Amino acid sequence: MTTQLPVPTRCAGRPTLGGLVVPWITLHAGDRYLFGALDKDRRDRALAERRCQVCGQRFDERICLTVRPADIRVGYTAEPGMHPECLAYSVRACPMLSGETTRYRAAPATLGLPGVAEAGNEPRAGRPADAFDAWWITPSSYRVKTDPEHASQLLGVDLDVPVLRKRPIRPAVGPDLDSLLTLARQALGLEDSTSNCPHQPDGALQPRNAAKESD
Ligand SMILES: [Zn+2]
Repeated sequence: MTTQLPVPTRCAGRPTLGGLVVPWITLHAGDRYLFGALDKDRRDRALAERRCQVCGQRFDERICLTVRPADIRVGYTAEPGMHPECLAYSVRACPMLSGETTRYRAAPATLGLPGVAEAGNEPRAGRPADAFDAWWITPSSYRVKTDPEHASQLLGVDLDVPVLRKRPIRPAVGPDLDSLLTLARQALGLEDSTSNCPHQPDGALQPRNAAKESD
């Protein structure tokens, strides 16, 4: 289990939950840390002050980014960079990066909570997991993009920069087989398209409470 993961020295002072380091930008609400939810103030500080999103310390000579195809399309990643060793730890500790999780939460644990930053640049709730790559860049290539219409609004890290190295972290998860078969049957006229909508697979999911998801 992930509880035995060696913790990077940089993260030794960070709080832990279930044996896992709580990242510096993780939302702390109601005396709970909500893994997967970003504290907007911390995220903005990490971007502006060039801090690692995991340990909160400033960068050295290399910065790692986690990048999805959707991030490349918009030209930035909403998540701040990381030290290489903090990324290596996250790839093993974070269920989304490790590949353990195949789908984003249907109902985010942070619904209705103030001060939450969007982790991406499009709605993710309930969707299959994206592919993630790791990019290595230099501090001189670490640039923060702002919203052209609201200069104080930080969008994320500019991806139109020289990249030293790219490595896949995890593959994307395609639509589940049942949905594809249903679509195929409908296309062939073998099934009434209104009787079994393939776009509602999440409707069967049980509501999950925030306390449970933060563990
Ligand atoms: Zn770090």
